[in-house]
Amino acid sequence: MTRADLLESILERLAGAGAAKALFSADETAAWPAGALETLVNASMLQQAQPASVVECTGCEENCLMPLHVFPAEGNRLARAFIACDKRDDVGRVSVDFCRLEQWQTTGKLIADVLAHLLGLSRSASHAADGKQWNIGVLKGKKHQSPVTLLAGDSLMLALAGHAVPLIEVLAIEENALTLDKDELIRRVDKPAGETGDPVARRIRIKARVHEEKVKGTKAFIQVVAKEEGISASRIKQLVSTKRVPVKVRIGLTTALKPPASKNPRSRY
Ligand SMILES: [Zn+2]
Repeated sequence: MTRADLLESILERLAGAGAAKALFSADETAAWPAGALETLVNASMLQQAQPASVVECTGCEENCLMPLHVFPAEGNRLARAFIACDKRDDVGRVSVDFCRLEQWQTTGKLIADVLAHLLGLSRSASHAADGKQWNIGVLKGKKHQSPVTLLAGDSLMLALAGHAVPLIEVLAIEENALTLDKDELIRRVDKPAGETGDPVARRIRIKARVHEEKVKGTKAFIQVVAKEEGISASRIKQLVSTKRVPVKVRIGLTTALKPPASKNPRSRY
C-alpha cells in the first residue's frame, strides 16, 4: 500500500460514512506504510478514538469479529483481554494484546480544520457546518478571492471559485508531512469557473450563496458574500435582483450564432 492509496482509502471511508466518522483499527494501521500513522496523527487528521470493544479473532481461520472481555489487574497480575471464539470447538478463549484495541478516527470537521491550517486560514465559529459541508475560509489569490468549502458526497470535494476539486487530487502524505497543493487551489481562485466559462453560472452561484447566508440568519448577508467574492455590495444586489441575462452574454451568444457572413458575403445569396 502506497501513501497515496492510504490517503484515498481514508477519504473514501469517511465519505462512505457520510463524513460523520471513520474508524481505523490497530490491525489496519499496522499494515500502513511506515510512519504514515504518526504523520497523520501529528497533522491532526487522525485522533485516537475509544478502544475497540470488538476484535477480529486470530484463533480460527474465519476472521470472526468477537466482543472483547477484559479481566482487570489483580494483585501482581496484569489486566488481560480475551475473546471467546464460537466458530470452532477447539479454539475457545483467545487472548488479545491490548495494543490491538487502539483505534483512530477522522471526521469531516477534523479534515476541515486540517485544511484551514494547511491553507493558513482560520475557521471561525460562524463557519457553521451542516454535517455535509464545512466552510474552510476565504482563500486569496492574486486577482480574486473565494470561499473554500469542503463538501461530502460520494467523495470529498473542495468547492472554490465555481470549481469542484476532488480532495484526493490536492492532498498528499509526503515523507513526514501532510501537504496540500495550495498553489493549485490559488490558480483555481484566480480563474473562477463562473467568470471564464459562464457568467450565468457565476450569477446562479452567487445567488445561491446569498440565499444560503440569508437562510442562516446572517444579518449583513449581502456584505458577507460581497467580501467573499471580492466585489461590491451593490454589484451583488444587482446580480441577485436581476432577472434578465446580462447584456454582454446576449451579445456574445448572438454573435456566436451568426454565420461568419462578413468574411464571405456571397454565400448568403
Ligand atoms: Zn474465531
